[in-house]
Amino acid sequence: SWLRICARLKGEVGEVEYRTWLTKIALGPIDGDEITLLLPTRFLRDWVRSQYGDRLSELWNQEIPSIRRVELQVARAGDPAPIPLENVPSASTATPVQEEVTPVARTAPEVRSDLVTALDSRFTFDTFVVGKPNEFAYACARRVAEKPSSVGFNPLFLYGGVGLGKTHLMHAIGAELIQSGNVSVAYMSAEKFMYRFIAAIRSQSTIEFKEQLRSVDVLMIDDLQFLIGKDNTQEEFFHTFNALVDAGRQIVVSADKSPSDLSGLEDRLRTRLGCGMVADIHATTFELRISILESKAAASGVVVPGKVLEFLAHKITSNVRELEGALNRLIAHANLFGRPVTLEATQEVLHDILKAHDRRVTIEEIQKKVAEHWNIRLTDMSSARRARNVARPRQVAMYLAKQLTSRSLPEIGRKFGNRDHTTVMHAVNRVTELMGLDAAFAEDVELLRRMLES
Ligand code: ADP
Ligand code: MG
Repeated sequence: SWLRICARLKGEVGEVEYRTWLTKIALGPIDGDEITLLLPTRFLRDWVRSQYGDRLSELWNQEIPSIRRVELQVARAGDPAPIPLENVPSASTATPVQEEVTPVARTAPEVRSDLVTALDSRFTFDTFVVGKPNEFAYACARRVAEKPSSVGFNPLFLYGGVGLGKTHLMHAIGAELIQSGNVSVAYMSAEKFMYRFIAAIRSQSTIEFKEQLRSVDVLMIDDLQFLIGKDNTQEEFFHTFNALVDAGRQIVVSADKSPSDLSGLEDRLRTRLGCGMVADIHATTFELRISILESKAAASGVVVPGKVLEFLAHKITSNVRELEGALNRLIAHANLFGRPVTLEATQEVLHDILKAHDRRVTIEEIQKKVAEHWNIRLTDMSSARRARNVARPRQVAMYLAKQLTSRSLPEIGRKFGNRDHTTVMHAVNRVTELMGLDAAFAEDVELLRRMLES
């Protein structure tokens, strides 16, 4: 039955992925409703658990209904060996093997030979639109590209929300450096770093892997938050990091949070990450979104009226990637049908995207969550009571309404017992001020925001 499960898995995940991850599994003992599967390393165990754990349980349960749990363990000497790949029949399931092969699948066998991940040629400094929210990060990136390893800029730590241009800036640094001459640059996502590290362990080439990493002039690791909870990879990264910085090489790292907020990363690593230049990319402003749209529209050669650009910049505020996606769709449509881009056409073509963006958090939800959090009655959100234990949560709710919805101040005021827009403005200012003064309060507000956004 294990053979059958293997065959199924092979059919589901594709040969390459199967070979990379799943051929390492050996069969352990069955104990009651639990079967133990064995993996050669902790990494592989964690990886298989996170990626295939649920599916493995399902398949075992289908095969042997009494089995309800699959336990994944690290094998010890003397444990049974995995079934060799040749013995696993090819799956007959008709599901086509996915086109997309994971990076490790492609790179695992030649970890030794190359470290360089191709840079996206569209991501250059020239195509990056600079505005208030990203000008500092941009300036730092330029500086590093011009003069790597300058004092105070090593490491360069870029952080910010999804789709705000971190990867774009890193590729731009890489492109600039490569163009400027004989500098070796390695760029990879933290995820890929982990894959490669695991692959190196498996093929017993960790020494080569380390040597390769430590021989580059500039190492860039994207989305470092991926390493949270991956202790061994973190450890390896930490050593690489130290070796490179000590040798006067440049490190560039990106993450979704600042080093101090990346809880789950080892303290000593966080400390070192924060030692150079830490640059925050803030959420886009309306002005920046317009500039980005204008620049991308101009590059496409399709005339997009200002009204349409404003409409998009108003509607799609979350991240640049989505904004770009929407604009690209409009442009494709215009090219395909040879029709001019109008506001009406935009609403039609982007119907689904726009709908998704309307489905954002409502003021009612905000009021409810905030009232729950501070244990006050929902009706107090619109009542006239001014006691501080009620007034403060109400102000927070107004603040969050302003931050998380696209409602205007008067609209928000109306939802809070017909209060004046100046009251809302005051609330927003007051909460902002308090957050600066009182860290515990700021944490409460941030927590609420996160809960409401998810
Ligand atoms: P992140 O890595 O921060 O999630 P990316 O760098 O992948 O974001 O950016 C998402 C998309 O938005 C990319 O196509 C990128 O080119 C584009 N983008 C983001 N910021 C800008 C900007 N300031 N100017 C031009 N394009 C941008
Ligand atoms: Mg990115």
